[in-house]
Amino acid sequence: MDRSEAEWRERLTKEQYKILRKKGTEKAFSGVYHDNKKKGIYRCAGCGQEVFHSEDKFDSGTGWPSFTRAYNIEHEKDYKLLYKRIEVHCSKCGGHLGHVFDDGPEPTHKRYCINSVALNFEEMD
Ligand SMILES: [Zn+2]
Repeated sequence: MDRSEAEWRERLTKEQYKILRKKGTEKAFSGVYHDNKKKGIYRCAGCGQEVFHSEDKFDSGTGWPSFTRAYNIEHEKDYKLLYKRIEVHCSKCGGHLGHVFDDGPEPTHKRYCINSVALNFEEMD
């Protein structure tokens, strides 16, 4: 999905644009989903593609929604900080969702640390 920056700017809220297109990070505990315990799926706020499931969500205590597993994403190395982080992007629109770390719980030991702003939750029974 190739949209111009101007199109994205128009489609997304200012906060969504900053995170999805400019790789920003929302402030810890500021998002709407870090505490969300409802059952459902999380979609990319940029294009609507399914990226996380509530069954993989866990309370990491970090203030960002955290998951052990992701769907329809791509990884990219991020060298912005001194230590290497792996960026997580939506595979459809390329939107930046957050980062993945290797210190998560069972069963994958992955911790997908994701911005609430980059997600839209869809509740399911
Ligand atoms: Zn997307």
